[in-house]
Amino acid sequence: MIVASLDPLRLDAGDLGIANGRIAAPGEGARLDCDGVLVIPGNVCAHTHLYSALARGMPYALEPPRNFVEILQRVWWRLDRALDEESVRASALAGGMEALLSGTTTLVDHHASPNAIDGSLDVIADALGSLGVRSALCYETTDRDGPERARAGLAENRRWLERVRREQPPLARGLVGAHASFTLGDETLAACADAAHEYSAGLHVHAAEDGADERDALTRHGVRVVERLARAGALDERTLLAHGVHLDGPEMAAIGDAKATVVHNARSNMNNSIGRARVEELDGRLALGTDGIGSDMFEESHAAYFRLREDDVGAGVDWPLLRLAESSRLAARLFDESLLGTLVPGAPADLVVLDYPAPAPVREESFAGHWAFALSSRHVRDVMVAGEWVVKDRRLTRVDADELAAGARTQAELLWQRLDGVGPHPFEPKGDS
Ligand SMILES: [Zn+2]
Repeated sequence: MIVASLDPLRLDAGDLGIANGRIAAPGEGARLDCDGVLVIPGNVCAHTHLYSALARGMPYALEPPRNFVEILQRVWWRLDRALDEESVRASALAGGMEALLSGTTTLVDHHASPNAIDGSLDVIADALGSLGVRSALCYETTDRDGPERARAGLAENRRWLERVRREQPPLARGLVGAHASFTLGDETLAACADAAHEYSAGLHVHAAEDGADERDALTRHGVRVVERLARAGALDERTLLAHGVHLDGPEMAAIGDAKATVVHNARSNMNNSIGRARVEELDGRLALGTDGIGSDMFEESHAAYFRLREDDVGAGVDWPLLRLAESSRLAARLFDESLLGTLVPGAPADLVVLDYPAPAPVREESFAGHWAFALSSRHVRDVMVAGEWVVKDRRLTRVDADELAAGARTQAELLWQRLDGVGPHPFEPKGDS
């Protein structure tokens, strides 16, 4: 059975043909036997941080953080400063490997390594390219590490977007990355918006993730976060707003009017205790990301669905599929491939073969139930990106996973040692906490 499209949901019987990296017209191309398996479009993770791939289980000796800002100051803004080129590469390889093995073919990454900025996006692109992962990359521009690094962060985005424009790498695209309103001064935000316009790229920014972001915007600028972005010329249909937990009604309306995309990261929000995003009130493009907690979109979509249902029993069982379809449409726009995320003739052949012995009928009217309550990354058998098998029989085809993991562990040990010497970040947002 073939899931030809998630929204509108369309299931086809028969086989798929693959030719020149795309789904072929019926009867043409190399035949992919779809009998007894479920073939779905590759999943898209619309917001992640590959740089956190080596952070699992890292030692922590400081006072436990009491809120979101302290989590940044004591965990993530220490980790990012300890990253060097080799650990960035190892993180991208490890995260990319796990993405493919869990059926995720496209990653929209938001990268930070303040002591290894220049060229970092090339390192990530090359690592992901070596595995065969599709990606859209950006560097997290911020003023929290001083003006020199803010300029270097922006320059890295520009350099990468220039390379993308020049080379059109088959599997990689770019956005303009920015951290969040509360760590961006007006000058830097304006420069990010300029770059986004110049390269016709979206701004990829955390927005209203925690209440501190809104309080800071109100205190320093007299407006809420989305209004501030809009005034800076940074809110349009290409804009990617991660989280949006603390958006108010007018902000949601402005996002809808601009056709910007909000990326919901349910597990990260729960883990950081920042509140639940009012996703049921958002009327517009709502995609799903992991915010760096792996790239398993089965797991993420399940968690997001159950957390929503906990408060809203009216949420439909097709909610996870609609969100994943939105993530795919985002990737389709980034790659200027309108059929990306579908398995219809002409679409890029990004697909996942699920070995799922269905104990109940799989039909268009029942598929959403199978997704919400049963399908998971343990069913992922084979993965194809742009017509090439990158996972076959649950193993990476291009690299040795054990060797890759061993290399990552070596880098993790070194990273953790360096991390020991990095203290809490002194940056504080403005406004009462
Ligand atoms: Zn994030």
